[in-house]
Amino acid sequence: MKKRNIAILGSTGSIGTQALDVVRAFPDLLAVSVLTASCNADLLIAQAMEFRPKAVVLVNPAGYQQIKDALAGLDISVFCGEEALEEVVQEETIDVVLNAIVGSAGLKPTIVAIKNGKDIALANKETLVVAGELIMDLVKKHQIRMLPVDSEHSAIFQCLVGEEANPIEKIYLTASGGPFRGKDQAFLQTVTKLQALKHPNWVMGAKITIDSASLMNKGLEVIEAKWLFDLDVEQIDVVVHPQSIIHSIVQFTDGSMKAQMGLPDMKLPIQHALTYPLRKTNAFERFNFLNHPTLTFETADTDTFRNLGLAYQSLREGGDRPCVLNAANEVAVAAFLEDKLSFLGMSDLIEATLCQQKKVENPSLQDLLAIDQQSRIVARDLISSL
Ligand code: NAD
Ligand code: MG
Repeated sequence: MKKRNIAILGSTGSIGTQALDVVRAFPDLLAVSVLTASCNADLLIAQAMEFRPKAVVLVNPAGYQQIKDALAGLDISVFCGEEALEEVVQEETIDVVLNAIVGSAGLKPTIVAIKNGKDIALANKETLVVAGELIMDLVKKHQIRMLPVDSEHSAIFQCLVGEEANPIEKIYLTASGGPFRGKDQAFLQTVTKLQALKHPNWVMGAKITIDSASLMNKGLEVIEAKWLFDLDVEQIDVVVHPQSIIHSIVQFTDGSMKAQMGLPDMKLPIQHALTYPLRKTNAFERFNFLNHPTLTFETADTDTFRNLGLAYQSLREGGDRPCVLNAANEVAVAAFLEDKLSFLGMSDLIEATLCQQKKVENPSLQDLLAIDQQSRIVARDLISSL
């Protein structure tokens, strides 16, 4: 494999730092062209010193001068502000843009990267939730590779290798069920953010951890899967699998099922996306059947975990509904983390925002960007009335 130059958007986060672990393990295959972060200047400086990218971006201007001073004389361009993300993804040496930004802020840089012919390794599922149809049209038009990093979608992608001629009957996205699996609404009424931030199987950024507790993460992943694999909503099922060993399953039209398995470690799907189509030898811990003699499966409880039901409903209704759902959810999670909204209040807020925003059919990209902003304003206003 020819050495690949990677731009890592969101390099200071959970996926970003694990991606750098993968790059560090394969110095002959992977190099870093660009690193970006929202506000952690100290970590971005340390990463830039180690990986020597061509450019770094700090979105928040507060730490810009600190980074400029720290990297002076190293031949690394330093930028700040949101728009700089759209500039740096065009850097000519970049082969793959790993988008590990959290939230719909990841959408615009993905679009610019695709239009500039870069392959995308996508962790930022919100990009496809907000604008999946438009993004996949661009992927086709510019003939780039869209490589999933989300573990479930990486699993499906891996199961589909060699099956290009064979239609999918159905996919099963596995869900751990999160920290509140099996609980009822009365219990959820009282949960705190500390309880919600403790995921049983994965250590991740705060937003996706709360989404996992509310099952919104699985809802966003259903929408992500629809666009990545060109499926009807009825072809996508969620099955709760608390051990998180089977990462997802494809069922073909002959009834045969293929699953992808392994220990829950995001470095596996990250490595797969960055070295695709090769599987490179690594020293990660291996799965041992005797340590996990029982793999179990349950149905997902959409009555208790309403966010999953709301995500399915928004996908069925189509148009701008998933964009509104996502924006309201981002506001809801931020408010929950600031103790301004209860755990169940998050579903109420999302539902109320969807009701209040009149549906738009066939939104353009400009429409979606405006609807994303408008839905946040509506959701923030609604918080005080809930
Ligand atoms: P995180 O919060 O740990 O990191 C987010 C990164 O994005 C940070 O580097 C941060 O500086 C940057 N960032 C935040 N807001 C930004 C903004 N407005 N503009 C530009 N940059 C910004 O999040 P994470 O857990 O690494 O998740 C990143 C994405 O990957 C999310 O979409 C998440 O759903 C997805 N994902 C994460 C995991 C996981 O295990 N963490 C698994 C699957 C998918
Ligand atoms: Mg996932």
